[in-house]
Amino acid sequence: MKTEAATLRLLSLGAGVQSTTLALMAAEGMLPNLGGAIFADTGWEPAQVYAQVDRIEATLTAAGIPLYRVAKGNLRHDSIDPAHRFASVPYYVRNPDGSDGMGRRQCTYEYKLKPINRKVRELLGAAAPHFRRVPRGRVAEQWIGFSTDEIGRVSDHDRVSYVRKRYPLLELGMSRKDCQRWLAARGWGSTVKSACVGCPFHGNAQWREMRDQRPDEFADAVAFDQSIRKGGARGLPLHGEAFLHRSRVPLSIAPINRVTRKEWADRSPDIFDALAELGDPDGCSPYGCRSGMAAAA
Ligand code: SF4
Repeated sequence: MKTEAATLRLLSLGAGVQSTTLALMAAEGMLPNLGGAIFADTGWEPAQVYAQVDRIEATLTAAGIPLYRVAKGNLRHDSIDPAHRFASVPYYVRNPDGSDGMGRRQCTYEYKLKPINRKVRELLGAAAPHFRRVPRGRVAEQWIGFSTDEIGRVSDHDRVSYVRKRYPLLELGMSRKDCQRWLAARGWGSTVKSACVGCPFHGNAQWREMRDQRPDEFADAVAFDQSIRKGGARGLPLHGEAFLHRSRVPLSIAPINRVTRKEWADRSPDIFDALAELGDPDGCSPYGCRSGMAAAA
């Protein structure tokens, strides 16, 4: 890939398929001069994602590449704490008049993009304790793991002066499936999509997979769903009701067994790919919300 002058080269690591591919490519020396990877922890990722981050960290460390973990708090706890101003998760809302609405969405920006940018400023030499101002002329090249099938997520909406975004997988012409094959060949075939346990943007396939394969996490999401029904925290409706599932019924009885039109449309000709991918949105990225909307608030 083409190299450009930058003070520091950093990878935004979500620990899903695409960013894991970039991390391992850097560790193998296929992508040069990575100065570090940054993982933004919402505190509510599935256990599989945390295990993946630990495994990636071991690989990066062996290659001399540091992994930085940043966090604003615990999104699950903060979302139901009225004292937290910025923990808004985009719930599906049923308004008092019966119409549909959506809650405010600041989770990606507040729990991922802001902590990452703060770390970038720190690594570029901004002064403690607030790391606000980057010394003149210092710029980070930020690698973002969007693959060719995710080109629609590329956006400059969240641009800051000290970050130059770069998309190595697009430059390499690699799709998500290319990355999956590349990972599988190296014994990383079980890489999952990274997203909060209780993300309202899960498709039915992801809810079913959680219910069937990770019942503790599904039970946690059901309990959380019950706790958000009536106000009490920022981002929730003053009147009306909030839900995690787009059907706007409690997750415990939501029609997650139904294969939606979108899920069928997303089906791959390969039945095994189809079962793995069926109707799921992309993983959660600080640079492109899995809803398809811009990530920054
Ligand atoms: S996974 Fe969902 S809930 Fe978590 S930060 Fe991303 S959009 Fe918000």
